[in-house]
Formats: sequence, structure tokens, C-alpha cells
Amino acid sequence: MASGRFAPSPTGPLHLGNLRTALLAWLFARSAGSAFSVRMEDLDPLACRPEHVAGQLRDLAALGLDWDGPVVTQSARRSAHEAALQHLIAAGHTYPCYCSRREIREAALAPNGADPEGRYPGTCRRLPVAQRARREAQGRRPALRLQGGAVPIAFEDRVHGRVEGTVDDVVLRRNDGTPAYNLAVVVDDAAMAIEEVVRGEDLLAVTATQIHLCRLLGLPVPVHAHVALLRGADGQRLAKRHGAVTLAQRLALGQSPQEVRAELAASVGLAAPGQCPTTATLLERFGALDPTSLSGGP
Ligand SMILES: [Zn+2]
Repeated sequence: MASGRFAPSPTGPLHLGNLRTALLAWLFARSAGSAFSVRMEDLDPLACRPEHVAGQLRDLAALGLDWDGPVVTQSARRSAHEAALQHLIAAGHTYPCYCSRREIREAALAPNGADPEGRYPGTCRRLPVAQRARREAQGRRPALRLQGGAVPIAFEDRVHGRVEGTVDDVVLRRNDGTPAYNLAVVVDDAAMAIEEVVRGEDLLAVTATQIHLCRLLGLPVPVHAHVALLRGADGQRLAKRHGAVTLAQRLALGQSPQEVRAELAASVGLAAPGQCPTTATLLERFGALDPTSLSGGP
């Protein structure tokens, strides 16, 4: 059976933008009769908390979003991430990177160094042996980057149509040994047999790199649907400063979970203002929705 997923980071309560993405991912999966999984992306031990795992799952359930099987915890899958890393290292697809955040920022500001997407400027890609030795002697611990080579990748996105991108030299393992997001996400999606990835438009730019990683690792490439991010009344991406942006805050204001779900559904044209459709009605309406309408535009 085909499967979709929602994969939040348990760093705090989900805000309405996350919940809308969760609702859409659930609608994509369930309207197609697919399985739906939840994965907690908790690789950063300093930022992630068990109480946020519980809180996020409670919010999904309150909105009527159900999932199949146990919730997958990314931090429990580090041996699988490491095995994939070893495969990439052995095949010569990686290189050590000694750059600090500050050095990357400064290289990007140098003449001809500016990259509009904030991609890695390539400082360590062909680092002379002497310079590498000097950094090692300073006790710097390298991160591991993908030898991306700016390979062009085109893919069909269910929302955006044909998308063309290039492979970035993303970090695969942080210098503290933690597997990085782009590696973990492709390894885990494949292990969970995820065939359709529905997520926010902010991740459209890294998709070419993730598809490339799938191919290098011999993993199936999922179908992608990148949906618009929820914006506040000022047109900016929804954030804390927009006021009551979590489900708990909305419930405290007297709204019911069904009303919050209806508001999220209304934001993509699945409910009229004031209407409170059931999940069955939402599934039926979603089936008739043109997915390209879920784009936030250019
Ligand atoms: Zn570097």
C-alpha cells in the first residue's frame, strides 16, 4: 500500500502552519486510500523534548488526523543513517568540511561568492592537503558534506509541476557526529516505504539534493508535493508574533478543534468561512481539488 507521512520536529508546539501541512499530507494520503505515518525528527537532542512529541501527537489526534503503525523516532535510527553515510564515504561521494557558520557566511559575501539560495560556497571541496592538515592541527572537527557537483535534477512536483534544481553540497553528518537532516530524511522515508512526500514549500530547494541522495543510495524516489506555507494577515510566514498560533492557544480562546480544522481547510478552499465540515466531507472535497492550487505562487 502506498504511504504518505508527516514528519515534524518536536522542538515546541506545532503552529497552525505545521498543522495545515499535516492536514494536507493526511488528505493527500487518505483521499488516495494510502497509509499515513508520523515520524518525529528529533536528531537534535538540545532542541527536542519528549513532552513536545506527546503534545504534537495530541494536536494531530484532536484535529481528527489518524496515522498507521507506531510513530517513528528518527533518533532511534542512527545506525541506519550511519550505514548510509559509510556507503557514501566508500563510494567517494563525500568530503570533510571544516568551515564554521561564520566562514560560510563570509565566503558567501565575497565577490562572486553570493548564492541566492544560501548554498555552500565550496571552500573545502578541493582543500589542499596542507590546509586540511592545518585545520586538523587546530583541533577542528569536520562535518561531512556531499560531493554534489551541482548536478542538475528535474522532477515533477504534484503542486509545482516540473521543477529544475541542482544538487547542493549539503552537510550529511554534523561535526558533532549527528546525522544531518537531508541524509536522515531520505534514509527514513525509504525505510518507512513512503511513496509520497507532502511538505512545506520551504523544502522545495533541497528536493533535488534529496533525490540525488536517493539515487546514490539505491533508494526509491518518492513523489513530492510542496504546499504553500500559511501566512499571517501581513503576508509573512506565520510565526509566534502573529498571536494565537498553536492549537492550545486557539482552544484557550474558546475555539473547538473542529473550528480550527475548518479554518485551515478554508485557507485552501475546502470549506466556506464559518462552515465546519467533517473529515469525511474534507476527504471528498479534497479529491476534487486541483493540487496545483496549493502553491503559494512565485
Ligand atoms: Zn568547508
